[in-house]
Amino acid sequence: MNSKKQGFNTICTHLGEINDEQFKGAISPIYLSTSYAFEDVDVKRYPRYFNTPNQEALCKKIAALEKGESSLIFGSGMAAISTTLFAFLQKGDHIVLQRTLYGGTANLVNEEFEKRGIDFSYVDSQTTEGFEQKIKPNTKVIYIETPSNPLLTITDIESVAVLAKKKGILTMIDNTFASPVNQNPITLGIDIVLHSATKYLGGHSDILAGAVVATEENINQIFQVAKNYGGSLSDFTVWMLERSIKTLGIRVKRQNKNALKLAKWLEKLDDVSAVHYPGLKSHPDHKLAKKQMKGYGGMLSFELKNELDASKFQKELRLIKSSMSLAGVESTILSPTLTSHALLTEEERNLQGIKNGLLRFSVGIEEKEDLMQDILQAIKKIKVLELKH
Ligand SMILES: *Cc1c(COP(=O)(O)O)cnc(C)c1O
Repeated sequence: MNSKKQGFNTICTHLGEINDEQFKGAISPIYLSTSYAFEDVDVKRYPRYFNTPNQEALCKKIAALEKGESSLIFGSGMAAISTTLFAFLQKGDHIVLQRTLYGGTANLVNEEFEKRGIDFSYVDSQTTEGFEQKIKPNTKVIYIETPSNPLLTITDIESVAVLAKKKGILTMIDNTFASPVNQNPITLGIDIVLHSATKYLGGHSDILAGAVVATEENINQIFQVAKNYGGSLSDFTVWMLERSIKTLGIRVKRQNKNALKLAKWLEKLDDVSAVHYPGLKSHPDHKLAKKQMKGYGGMLSFELKNELDASKFQKELRLIKSSMSLAGVESTILSPTLTSHALLTEEERNLQGIKNGLLRFSVGIEEKEDLMQDILQAIKKIKVLELKH
């Protein structure tokens, strides 16, 4: 069967898999060898050259899921992001980025670009005009992230891609939050798609990995830098990631469903003052999200009413774990002010609309009723605590 025509879950389960010719096992064998014979001088296999059998097999799957030509996988999301940025940006170049970036990406830009002579501008409004205003004659890249962290704002992918094409600028997107289940930016005109595979692609909070998907030509340009930086992924983790992606479609669809139900339910709770989820009609970018996403994802954030202490609430949760990471099958929660965005000043956080009581909720695959019960019992407990004071 022509693999290009396969449906999403078939690609997840099978595409790229290595046939076990020797024992006819049902899954890809794992090849941990770091040394391969020089039978063909054109193919020097070596893990840091991103071309072991397991790496190549998984890259085919990830490229197909994002509807791209080619892909590379890395030891972390940040390895994929930094290697890709430095493959296209040189001294004297300029990049336009949206302000609401993943914290690690913002740190990379703020701490590493200036000393390399790379100029950058942040866009606050996240509208296409906002991006256009920041473009300079030496702008080489526009970098977006949608839905964003932690307020789930939406950037118009197609419109930014059209703008960039007109100006001959390369576009990159961090597609981690949406995952390929909900959004395929390449089909909307984006050049390069980045993932922290630590999140939905891995999905079980036990893998650190990253991925980039693009044309063969762009992947080759990234590879030339990647082999020097050495951020490749160990083949054992590659194999685990291949296994994890088999269930990507069913996991994320379930998380979409749970998150939408919980967002609607939270919005009606008296003790909650705001819910941020692109699937809600009240979300300012709901129409745009509906246009460019197939599902709204498993991430949402919400604010408790002022008089309720968000950190105490977090401590009273029994099922929903407080955790730095996200996108696992288990539900997790964190306070951006105290964790992911702690390095920003209060003023910088205010600029992005991140309030101190905001909680970011990564919705898992549990039964939604159990998650609701957990939230209700935690609110009840902190109310009792507050009465005692
Ligand atoms: C986690 C994350 C990253 C960084 O990935 P690591 O695997 O932790 O290096 C980048 N972007 C987004 C949106 C993330 O959530």
